[in-house]
Amino acid sequence: MTNKSAFDAAKKLIPGGVDSPVRAFKSVGTTPPFIDHAKGCYIYDIEGNKYIDFVQSWGPLIFGHCDKDIQEAIIKSVKKGVSFGAPTLSETNLAKLILDEFKFIDKIRFVNSGTEATMSAIRAARGYSKKDGLIKFEGCYHGHSDALLIKAGSGATTYANASSSGVPQDIVKNTYLAIYNDIKSVKDIFEANKDKIGVVIIEAIAGNMGLVPAKKEFLSQLRELCDKHGAVLILDEVMSGYRASKRGSFDFHDIKADMITFGKVIGGGMSAAAFGGKKEIMDCLSPDGAVYQAGTLSGNPVAMSAGIAALKKINNDKNLYKKLSSLSQMLMDGFSSAAKKNNIPLQTQTRGSMFGYFFSNKKVENYEDALKSDTLAFAKFHTNMLKQGIYLAPSQFETGFVCDAMDEKIIKKAIKAANKAFREI
Ligand SMILES: *Cc1c(COP(=O)(O)O)cnc(C)c1O
Repeated sequence: MTNKSAFDAAKKLIPGGVDSPVRAFKSVGTTPPFIDHAKGCYIYDIEGNKYIDFVQSWGPLIFGHCDKDIQEAIIKSVKKGVSFGAPTLSETNLAKLILDEFKFIDKIRFVNSGTEATMSAIRAARGYSKKDGLIKFEGCYHGHSDALLIKAGSGATTYANASSSGVPQDIVKNTYLAIYNDIKSVKDIFEANKDKIGVVIIEAIAGNMGLVPAKKEFLSQLRELCDKHGAVLILDEVMSGYRASKRGSFDFHDIKADMITFGKVIGGGMSAAAFGGKKEIMDCLSPDGAVYQAGTLSGNPVAMSAGIAALKKINNDKNLYKKLSSLSQMLMDGFSSAAKKNNIPLQTQTRGSMFGYFFSNKKVENYEDALKSDTLAFAKFHTNMLKQGIYLAPSQFETGFVCDAMDEKIIKKAIKAANKAFREI
């Protein structure tokens, strides 16, 4: 079977042939490789092609594919039973590992996806603040729950939809859209809606409009505004948590969040995510409080074991983030100079193991800037790199990831391919 025939068969049974839109490679106009298996930093498709994987399942696999310690933890857990729908020690253990790192939040609850984490965090925050108004930022993505799908990033951006069809206007009427890195846009919303805004949610390192970090000054002013107006500040660390640094975005600014959402890395590649916050907010949750939230497979023991193995391994490797940061920096420096040699304007950015590059001659600080990128040039570059065995995220508006299974030799290979790609596009 070829990738093409597999994709055609899938499209007959699954909308667009995929279970998450960006996987369809629509914005680069090619057929997605169907993955057979993976090992370390490599993925192998059903045609037997081998690629260096800079997607890493969109973030979770910080140690690469089939990490032995995580794999063993999963197998051991599977042998004890895959799900009980009852409390296990693994949930308390993973909770402790995370809360030890993020000291200013007191309690955490596990869910199955980042979408669920942000949706539940917002509900808890609204239940606590008793105010319905929610501010989100254009270009930030917090999963696909109804209230957040106003000009969503990622998949929706790629398809140039301002918002999703099927979301009732009534549900988004309490969601206000602010401009990333623009404090005035936030201030204006607060002032126009006095005593109505109960929640602000943001990616302090945005990874879903490409990689665009928030400025330190902007974040402190945002914290002040939330305090002044009695709004709960949620930092969505689903992507940046344990990726930008061990403490997510928190090594890059000095603000504290009232709530934090986690996902991706904390599940070690399995389906796990979480939301945590100050005691007084988290205690609003059922069964102790009046905010209802639940999940049949939440805190699944296999996923918890994978997460525990991943976080323990992170804790045991003091040089991990130094290594990953230098690999991503080396990759972006390499892309930069290769682009320059060929007179192609490119903006690059890294945060720890995360990297991003925009085909643009202007520094990207918000969503509008990101949209000015040359997506056609990106598509050509992507296709060329894929042919050379370099698997990059198939959209200009996504973040790339390096993993611990990579080394400088791998990065040099990718840079060499980028030189060829920039020359040929
Ligand atoms: C990936 C992501 C989500 C959604 O997580 P899913 O597990 O895909 O539902 C939410 N917020 C951010 C910042 C993300 O990167």
